[in-house]
Amino acid sequence: MTSELSGRYFPAGASRFHAAKLRTEIDGSFAVLTDDITERERGAFPAVGISSRLGNLPRRLSLPSGALFECDDNDAVDRLLSKHRPKDRSGYISRLESSWRLAIAAIVMTVIAGAGFAFFGVPYTADFLAQRTPREVDDIFGREALRTLDGVFLQPSALSEAEQAQIQAIFARAAREGARGEDGYRLLVRSSPIIGPNALALPDGTIILTDELWALREHDDEVLGVLMHETAHVDRRHSLQSLYQAAIVPAVIALVTGDPTQIAQMATILPGILMQSAYSRGLEQEADDDAAVILQRIGSDPAHLADMLERLQREVCGEEECAPSWIGTHPETASRAARLRGATQAP
Ligand SMILES: [Zn+2]
Repeated sequence: MTSELSGRYFPAGASRFHAAKLRTEIDGSFAVLTDDITERERGAFPAVGISSRLGNLPRRLSLPSGALFECDDNDAVDRLLSKHRPKDRSGYISRLESSWRLAIAAIVMTVIAGAGFAFFGVPYTADFLAQRTPREVDDIFGREALRTLDGVFLQPSALSEAEQAQIQAIFARAAREGARGEDGYRLLVRSSPIIGPNALALPDGTIILTDELWALREHDDEVLGVLMHETAHVDRRHSLQSLYQAAIVPAVIALVTGDPTQIAQMATILPGILMQSAYSRGLEQEADDDAAVILQRIGSDPAHLADMLERLQREVCGEEECAPSWIGTHPETASRAARLRGATQAP
């Protein structure tokens, strides 16, 4: 049975081509015809080299004479191959094989890219995502994280209404200076024997201050400094950055799909990150620096925040190595306090 390909025939050494047909016969021979009648050459089909299938690129058949036959109909070439050369590697099987090779190459590339990403790109990516997380997602994170915190670690405040009003008044001073404006934050006062003297900032602008931290103050501006530090964490989206760093893959999936249940699920790991103060030293310093600038602008001495940090250190850890908490670790507390006091002397 005769099969036929339509295409372009480039005689050896010639740059012009002729519209042509390549016919194969059942005996395994082939012939190239131009104008349907002029036989340009003839030979054994197995001696024809056939280029691999690459997308929609025309196939090139290298003829034994050195001439080329080009064909746009990839499927017809494959049919011809499976008929005359069923084991030919440039046919269907090789396509499968090359797609496997491609798949393995893709996996290898992904692993390499993933490793590079993990070593160099995670903090950058986490920051990039955090800065672009929409407010609605902040709200889901805030709500779900608070639900976990309230259910497990926090209790209603035992402070009097008068004291709570006093704290809210201090908070209002901090909130007014925040990037989100006064209504962009809210303060919840909670008691927590578990987490002790502590303050947390959630992505939606919710800030939590514990009775235990309030009890440690010797000056209201110390609490102002703590709250200012927390609003800075909100403004710089530090909690999201830390969360995304800890769970970069689910973060990307959640944000790309925008699936609220994925986001809510991720939110459940946020309390752990916040309470262990998994914030990096860099992020803490950033929040301290922001707080110091604003405190000075409104006429409050950042040294008060330094006092509070050192007192927290003493009360919570004594001379011992400090467990992770709001204040971080001992050397960090000392250098943070020194930096805050240094800010006082800055012009
Ligand atoms: Zn902090």
